[in-house]
Amino acid sequence: MSATVGRLLLPGKVVFVTGAGSGLGRAICKCFAQEGATVIGGDVNKTAVDEVISSLRGMDNGKHLSVAVDVSSSEDVQSALNRTMEAFSKPADAVVNSAGITRDNLLFQMSEEDFDKVLSVNLKGTFLVNKIFGEAMVWHGIQGSIVNISSIVAKNGNIGQSNYAASKAGVLALSSTVAKELARHGIRVNSIIPGFIDTPMTEAVPDKVKDRIIPAIPLRRFGRPEEIAEVAAFLASDRSSYMTGAAVDVTGGLNL
Ligand code: NAP
Repeated sequence: MSATVGRLLLPGKVVFVTGAGSGLGRAICKCFAQEGATVIGGDVNKTAVDEVISSLRGMDNGKHLSVAVDVSSSEDVQSALNRTMEAFSKPADAVVNSAGITRDNLLFQMSEEDFDKVLSVNLKGTFLVNKIFGEAMVWHGIQGSIVNISSIVAKNGNIGQSNYAASKAGVLALSSTVAKELARHGIRVNSIIPGFIDTPMTEAVPDKVKDRIIPAIPLRRFGRPEEIAEVAAFLASDRSSYMTGAAVDVTGGLNL
């Protein structure tokens, strides 16, 4: 349990987490619930997110919710907002955008379809959730926090990931822009820049590639999902009240 009793980071907060069925999103749901939040987990994989939300029951007030959402669909994001409104009579105090995909290939082999798909989920999905939930937060007078998950490869690129790196660089630019636009409404928007974290997404990385990456990481290991979740909890909480437009590296010191 990460929280100190009596000093929870997110007491009474309603939070919406995308990509909640796996990896970082799953760890974020668990950490946020432990920190006193009521969690709405959204994922394209409804079975996975149902399982995550069920696992939270017992450590909560019984109100956590799972929703099926494809973040690249404005109708789906709107319906996730509607479900949240029905259940809690407000859009959410904090939102974390963790839904993301990879479709790696070298530039000349990368299909237009794989380029579009990655941009559509990672960048457009983040845009839609920021827009639809952000607007509802403004409308309801919620002075909340939005946390967008980028990636270390956004900074300097990575072989085989021109689509993914571009999408994550877009997330950084989107976040700093939305931070400027929403600051006057009291809504803070920050990004996390994870390095290499042990999740199903990085399970696909071949061992020989991992063996090349690890020596370049000053802390000499991949990160754990919980180590991203702790930073997300801080950014979602009022304890980061003077942070907006920031991009926080959580990379074990790796600077590609
Ligand atoms: P993950 O384990 O694959 O989890 C991502 C989750 O998002 C999955 O449940 C996935 O469902 C879901 N998802 C995919 N497309 C979606 C859509 N259109 N709408 C809603 N949900 C969707 O990956 P992760 O490692 O936790 O990554 C989480 C975020 O961190 C991503 O944005 C990723 O780019 C970023 N990140 C990860 C690392 C890392 O090392 N792991 C590093 C830097 C940044 P399916 O499984 O059905 O696709």
